[in-house]
Amino acid sequence: MPKIYFTPGPSQLYFTVQEHLRAALRDDIPSISHRSSKFQQIYAETVENLSTLLDLPPGYRILFTSSATEAWERIIQNLVARESYHLVNGAFSSRFHEIALQLGRNALSAEATEGSVVEMSSLLIPESSELIAITHNETSTGARQPEKDLESIRKAFPNQLIALDVVSSVPDAEINYSLVDTAYFSVQKAFGLPAGLGIWIVNERCIEKSSTLQQNGHNTGSYHSLDSLLEKADKNQTPETPNVLGIYLLGKVAADMLEKGLDQIRRETAYKAALLYHTYENNPNLAPFVEDPAYRSRTTTVARVATGSTELISYLSSKGFIAGSGYGKHKTDHIRIANFPTHSKEQIEMLADYLTNWNP
Ligand SMILES: *Cc1c(COP(=O)(O)O)cnc(C)c1O
Repeated sequence: MPKIYFTPGPSQLYFTVQEHLRAALRDDIPSISHRSSKFQQIYAETVENLSTLLDLPPGYRILFTSSATEAWERIIQNLVARESYHLVNGAFSSRFHEIALQLGRNALSAEATEGSVVEMSSLLIPESSELIAITHNETSTGARQPEKDLESIRKAFPNQLIALDVVSSVPDAEINYSLVDTAYFSVQKAFGLPAGLGIWIVNERCIEKSSTLQQNGHNTGSYHSLDSLLEKADKNQTPETPNVLGIYLLGKVAADMLEKGLDQIRRETAYKAALLYHTYENNPNLAPFVEDPAYRSRTTTVARVATGSTELISYLSSKGFIAGSGYGKHKTDHIRIANFPTHSKEQIEMLADYLTNWNP
C-alpha cells in the first residue's frame, strides 16, 4: 500500500520532487563542483525563486545553513552581544532560548500557557534586549502567533532586531518580511524536501549589527559567520561544500509553487485546515489542542485524543496514512497532522473520513 506522510517534518515530499530528483541524477547535479559556474547558476536561481515566492523586500539576503537549528546558533553569535528576548510557547521556541543561554547570553523569555501564544498585552521587553525571537508556528503544540502581532511588536520595539521562525509555516505564512529583520526555516517541513538544508534570511540591519559586534572584538563564529556567508553569497557560493542537491531541489520546488500560485496554495491550506479542525471538534474522542481558533496553526494541526493517540496512529497507518505522535510529554495523548502544500484536498478529505469514523 502506498504511504502518505502527514508527519510534521520530515513529511511527504512535494509531489514534483521525484521528477526533479530524476532530472538531477540525469544531469549529474550531485557530482558538480560547488565552485563551478553551473553551481553558481543553480544558487542564483534558487535565491531568486525563493525571494519572489516569499516576496522579500529589497536588501533582504538569503543564506544557506545546514538546518534551522544552525540558524538559531548563527543568529545569537552574529546578532546578540549580551541579551536576547524569547517568546516561548513550546519545545522549538524553548530550544532557541536554551541555545542563547548555552552561548552565554542573558536570554530572557515570556512563557505562554501550553497550546497558546504569548499575548501582546502582557509583553514587557526591556530596552536592553537586542533581539526579540518569535516562533510563527510552534510545531510542537500547533499554536500560531497571529501575523498582526508582528506589527505591534515592530511598532513597540523599533530599535530591537526581530527574529522570526517560519520553519513549519512557509510558504503558507502571510508574513510581511519588512516587519522582521531575520527569518529562517528548514526545507523538510512545508516545502516537502529531504532534510539537510536551512534557509537564513537577513536584512541590512542584521549585517550592520554583525559587523559592529566584530569591530568590538566579539567572536561571531568561523566559516558560517554572517560576513563569511555573505562574502561567498556575493559570488553565488557557500563557504563549505554545501548540500548542492538540496539547493537545486529547493529552487525547482519554489518555481513549481510560484507557478501554482501562492494564493491557490493558501486557499487550499485554509480549506484543508478548516476541515481537519471541524473533524477534531466533531469526534467526541478528539479535540483541538489549541482552544482559541485565532491561535490555531493552519499547517500543523494538533488534536488531543481522549483514549490516547497510539491506537489511532496505528489505525491510520494501517490505511497508509502516517500521522505524527504528540511532541515530548504529549507523545501518547496528542496526534499531529501536517497540512502542507503537498497534501491534496482529496487526501485530507479521506483522512478526515477515517478520523470521523474512528471509534476506539
Ligand atoms: C523543525 C523545527 C525546527 C528545527 O528544524 P531543524 O531542521 O530540525 O533544525 C525549528 N523550529 C520549528 C518551529 C520547527 O518546527
